[in-house]
Amino acid sequence: MTLFTVGPVEMSPAVRETGSIALPYFRTAGFSRLMLALEEELLGLFGAPGGSRALLMSGSGTAAMEAAVAGLFDPASDRLLIVNGGSFGQRFVEIAARHRIPHRVLTVPFEADLTAGLFADFTDYSPTGLLINQGETSIGKLYDLGIAADFCRSTGALLVVDAVSSFLNDRLDMEAQGVDCALTASQKALALPPGLAPLVLGPRALAKLEATPQPLYYLDLSAALRNQKRGQTPWTPALAIIYQLETRLADIRAGGGLAAELGRRAELAAWFRTELGRRLPGLRVPAYLKSNGLTPVLTEPYDARALFESLEEKGLIITPSGGERTHTLTRIGHMGHLSQAQYEPLLDAIVSWTEKEKR
Ligand SMILES: *Cc1c(COP(=O)(O)O)cnc(C)c1O
Repeated sequence: MTLFTVGPVEMSPAVRETGSIALPYFRTAGFSRLMLALEEELLGLFGAPGGSRALLMSGSGTAAMEAAVAGLFDPASDRLLIVNGGSFGQRFVEIAARHRIPHRVLTVPFEADLTAGLFADFTDYSPTGLLINQGETSIGKLYDLGIAADFCRSTGALLVVDAVSSFLNDRLDMEAQGVDCALTASQKALALPPGLAPLVLGPRALAKLEATPQPLYYLDLSAALRNQKRGQTPWTPALAIIYQLETRLADIRAGGGLAAELGRRAELAAWFRTELGRRLPGLRVPAYLKSNGLTPVLTEPYDARALFESLEEKGLIITPSGGERTHTLTRIGHMGHLSQAQYEPLLDAIVSWTEKEKR
């Protein structure tokens, strides 16, 4: 079986091996040293400005999204602008609503890119925070963070970026791109099991955190920060995944570092899209800016769900879509431990399926 999914994804043999080690006790100086070293390395990978802190929250990406929204913004004094162009933008909207934080929604139409023009309606709103998914994974779209940062600079809003599917796939440089808080999850391009959610707070976010009451208990960001200062977590951490993270980060270093990692991903995505266009000219890839982590494919006149099921029988697992795009859009992942050669049987299988459907 091969996973061309967007999480969980194929894990390297080294990461899988680390997952089977006997776990040590963690309230020790040795474990604290590991946590502080991992923090340092993550801050580098996020391009975090000096004075930033990285927290390893337990939970999937949604836990980090909720921790950031509820922990940085107060229903009594904050108001948010939320970019919504798909199901992950919608998730931010639902989290803000659940915590009763006043918000407005900037809707990005399907097939359109995020533009400065879309922010024009909100210049008088002056929110204290902007929530955006760098990658809207439900449709494989990548937003230009520069546009969001320009808006935040002119309004003073804190820029919170869900980089769950873009981290290690697409360029994320918190300092250069003006990002105050960024978060990801272990099962996407980090290619680890689900359950660990790194969350980075820049200096402005740390100041905001200090001034904000914490409504959440398990996901209390202040408690996590207080503990991380000594390399610990308030509760039992996702210990096995933390050791797997250590292995994965060492692999990235050995492979030439972040730039090389991003380069390999960009090359794989570009190669796949070229091959898809050459072998399957009938299928359409939307023109909007795309993440290198996945390729969205509009399957009409074919049924996307039937394609997924046919490939699944062959052990080739692509990513189905939900809701209104169940039958028209499929997503082929490029995250994880995958090589070009592994896409050959996938492309062949899609070609023969479409030929059979045509008859
Ligand atoms: C996967 C993903 C998440 C988190 O989903 P979980 O299932 O909670 O890990 C959040 N945002 C984006 C953009 C994602 O792709």
